[in-house]
Amino acid sequence: MKVVILVGGVGGARFLLGVKQALGLPATGSSPDSPHEVTALVNTGDDVWMHGLRICPDLDTCMYTLGGGIDTERGWGHAGETWTVKEELAAYGAEPTWFGLGDKDIATHLIRSRMLRAGYPLSQVTEALCDRWQPGVRLLPMSDDRVETHVVIDDPEDPDQRKAIHFQEWWVRYRSEPKAHSIIAVGADEAKPAPGVLDAIAAADVVLFAPSNPVVSVGTTLGVPGIRDALRKTRAKVVGVSPIIGGKALRGMADACLSAIGVETSAEAVGRHYGSRKESPDGVLDGWLVAEGETVDVPGVAVRDVPLLMSDVDATAAMVRAAFDLAGVSVE
Ligand code: GDP
Ligand code: CA
Repeated sequence: MKVVILVGGVGGARFLLGVKQALGLPATGSSPDSPHEVTALVNTGDDVWMHGLRICPDLDTCMYTLGGGIDTERGWGHAGETWTVKEELAAYGAEPTWFGLGDKDIATHLIRSRMLRAGYPLSQVTEALCDRWQPGVRLLPMSDDRVETHVVIDDPEDPDQRKAIHFQEWWVRYRSEPKAHSIIAVGADEAKPAPGVLDAIAAADVVLFAPSNPVVSVGTTLGVPGIRDALRKTRAKVVGVSPIIGGKALRGMADACLSAIGVETSAEAVGRHYGSRKESPDGVLDGWLVAEGETVDVPGVAVRDVPLLMSDVDATAAMVRAAFDLAGVSVE
């Protein structure tokens, strides 16, 4: 079975662990003999240059998580990380100081930046990095082109003005506290899907949306021209998993992103925002999984309620099986 999944960082990576288990793939390492092929289309809108290094938070979170190297407590970065370089940079007063840049992590960014400067596209760089980590799924950046999510806030220095800051600054430095007036994916209009993205969607037996942030993870990927069309045309069923349970986003601040685009923080509103492939002109969903006990109506979309907490890999695999079931595919 060919499975394509749209993912962001922490939520996406956890979901991918469940996908691997549901398909009988080992938690870490690759399994070349498996009949199943998993392609994750990873958001790159969070990517940023810092200290001359290209940082791809969502790609790295997926790569470290699936490769068994993630810090499981934090959910991002390396296990057993140290922070010497960050401290040294701070001693020089080098901005920005608010971003967590671990020593081991820096090695990843050094290799990536060097390869990008040598002219390799991000998709090939990612493949090279995955040679070491063996995530067992194909990690494809949504695009090789530079797309960066920016957030428009009131200018802290001049309340009469607004200014756009990089998503990472809003999210990590300001903990998404300044109200987001709008969220813009800079460069998205001219971006092309990375090589392999459209083919993977066209050849898929099933497409899933991880319960990742619907605005700045899945939403950014859907904003790359061509991807939404490919999802609308594929023969595969497209099933999404709600990141909103009981009107709340889990472990994150997705509500601040949803209000910026005028969508209520509820499973129903997010399902309607993605929309029906059949009944809405730019909709992308055939099925929508919501949390157990919630009654949700999304016109033209098959909705099912199941336990949606990714409390451990078994629970996540059960969610994935429910998504397969709703899509009408079965794992043999
Ligand atoms: P990020 O890129 O690291 O912010 O991570 P993602 O965009 O991939 O995922 C973040 C989203 O995952 C948040 O909006 C959460 O609501 C959602 N999420 C986190 N844990 C769970 C869970 O256990 N179940 C569900 N359904 N959603 C979750
Ligand atoms: Ca992210």
